[in-house]
Amino acid sequence: MPERSFSQEVKQLRTGAGEAFEGEGILAVTKALLQSGISYVGGYQGAPVSALVDVLSDANELLQDLGIHLETCANEAGAASMLSASINYPIRGAVTFKSIVGTNVASDALSNLSSPGVMGGALIIVGEDYGEGSSIIQERSHAIAMKSQIWLMDPRPELQRIVDLVEKSFELSEASNTPVMMELRIRACHLSGRFESRDNKRAKYSQRDLIQNPVFNKDRISLPPATYIQEKLKVDVRWPAAIEFLREHRVNETIAGDVTDVGFILQGGMYNHVIAALRALGLADDFGNSRIPLRILNCVYPLVPDELAEFCRDKRAVLVIEEGQPNFIENDVKAILSDAGVITKVSGKNCLPMAGEYVAAVLIDGFNKFFSNARPKEIGAYAATEFLKSIQANQRKALDILGAPVPARPPGFCTGCPERPVFGAIKLVQEQVGKVHVSADIGCHSFATLEPFKIGNTILGYGLGLASSTGLSSMMKNPVVSIMGDGGFWHQGLTTGVANHIFNKDEGVLVILKNGYSSATGHQHIPSTGSNSRDQASEMDLEKALRGVGVKWIENVAAYRVGKVVNSLKRAILARGKGLRVIIAEGECMLARQRREKPITNARIKQGDRVMRTRFGIDESTCTGDHSCIRLSGCPTLTIKSTSDPLRKNPVAHVTDGCVGCGNCGETAHAAILCPSFYKADIIQNPTRWDRFVHGLRASVIGMLQGREKQVVVS
Ligand code: SF4
Ligand code: SF4
Repeated sequence: MPERSFSQEVKQLRTGAGEAFEGEGILAVTKALLQSGISYVGGYQGAPVSALVDVLSDANELLQDLGIHLETCANEAGAASMLSASINYPIRGAVTFKSIVGTNVASDALSNLSSPGVMGGALIIVGEDYGEGSSIIQERSHAIAMKSQIWLMDPRPELQRIVDLVEKSFELSEASNTPVMMELRIRACHLSGRFESRDNKRAKYSQRDLIQNPVFNKDRISLPPATYIQEKLKVDVRWPAAIEFLREHRVNETIAGDVTDVGFILQGGMYNHVIAALRALGLADDFGNSRIPLRILNCVYPLVPDELAEFCRDKRAVLVIEEGQPNFIENDVKAILSDAGVITKVSGKNCLPMAGEYVAAVLIDGFNKFFSNARPKEIGAYAATEFLKSIQANQRKALDILGAPVPARPPGFCTGCPERPVFGAIKLVQEQVGKVHVSADIGCHSFATLEPFKIGNTILGYGLGLASSTGLSSMMKNPVVSIMGDGGFWHQGLTTGVANHIFNKDEGVLVILKNGYSSATGHQHIPSTGSNSRDQASEMDLEKALRGVGVKWIENVAAYRVGKVVNSLKRAILARGKGLRVIIAEGECMLARQRREKPITNARIKQGDRVMRTRFGIDESTCTGDHSCIRLSGCPTLTIKSTSDPLRKNPVAHVTDGCVGCGNCGETAHAAILCPSFYKADIIQNPTRWDRFVHGLRASVIGMLQGREKQVVVS
């Protein structure tokens, strides 16, 4: 089951014309797709649009009613390829994935889609994972849109506007025969609000109304000579058609303001932050009205030249607010104004940072530089200076109180994660065979590159752990150990690293962490979950897939059995000349398991059933206080506390109540021959008479042996 269920929220997707819809941005986007009359939809999970795939899966019944085909895809390339349905047929469709990594994977399909263009509206909804909350490399979807000439929407984060722009995107796509991309930042995806619904539309062609005859049109195949004509059409016909549509439908917006000689040009997605920053300076109100004239670009590519020239003509200076780099929009605005003979001074990255997220404090600093240079007639040069001084004084005060900056808190594995013991085992095996180069991958397991493991020398992409080892593996004394999750394996690991190794007869060790879900993105189902997002059984088997492409050396091991993982790793590393050696370390994602089991356990306790749970503890009297168990395990519930022994100074290791009883710490201590301090305790809730009798007997025998009475409580 995915991390979050939308089974209640999706009921609102049935609302009709005039009814109010309340919810998050992601739900609003889904409703807008249904109102647009799509025939198919698909996607691959990834923040910040993971929940869109979850919503679609939860709304499958409604999709079926409307005859919409839903595909939860194996990767982004598969999702983007679905849009080929709109090349020859007048049918609308949408796909979703995260950017920039997903857009990179989808690039081939996107190029081949945009070259012939589309008849039916094709929309690509990408989660723009940029800035401080991002989990990936910092690049922009803008570059992808520009290179393939796919129009890029960046809606102002307001639900009604987002819904309207989704619908407009399909119209724009059809008016210009070009796919449209919509970038949604994290702040737009999780924005809450309300909008007025329209009726859901049933498409002309769908699973319920079939296309009778296939269409063949050689001009729509992306091969020469058609590609030459397609390129001409892109620039001579489709681009002008898009500009005309954007102008006619007023896709971009202006807030007039009362300041007359300066203005801001901003990406639509930046609007809420810009207003928050202006509000702090007293230059905007709570309703989004700004004293500074704003040109809000809900479509950031292509720009509409005459609209921008018109906005700038009567202004001495404008500031382009464009998050991320390079500064595509700023450079385009300069060129557009130059061509139009408008002499307005354009500022942008000379006031605001070239890279990084534009949070309110960064924007205010940039506004200060802009106002100091431009000196707007009505508000003067120092509108932001005093405010900045007060912020800086507060920051200094906070630092004085704290005494030092707040330490960084890097992300780590969950309590009881089955991936942690495998990295503990990799640390241990290196003590026996020497250091190994580890080719890491994307997933929760990438946290192993951080403290306390610091395992993983490179990360090249999702499912590419093994493929990225091949340039190096033949030059290393010890074979490279590559890591891959089962999510990465099905995403592209099988067809890249594994297939390459077998085809080229490469040597190598691959550890597949089989936890059963796409955990890092919210526990979406993958082929090794055993069922798809619609709970239909999947017959796909990871080991069979490996054997199917020719892998012969495979060992299965339970991820929590540290000693066994160490032995298996040792065998794999030392089995030179045996080609690719694969270890499948299996253990269900603990977060998913807890989520599944907790409600069942709580219900059983409530109805008086005997329930036993295991947790681990540390005997304070035998703990030496060297904390090697913490360095090897990294479990968040394994911490330190002061000892009650007055003769000892060092704090001892301690297990908090958060322990889920996975046993990794004890296994690690055993495999590393650390110390005997760990004990396992079975906590019985609703004990039977027999449990009480056995407990009483034990307590009295132990008390007798210790020569004193000891009280132990069974809850
Ligand atoms: S979500 Fe699952 S796999 Fe990921 S760190 Fe948590 S327990 Fe481990
Ligand atoms: S303290 Fe040990 S048994 Fe408890 S969750 Fe952490 S690693 Fe698992």
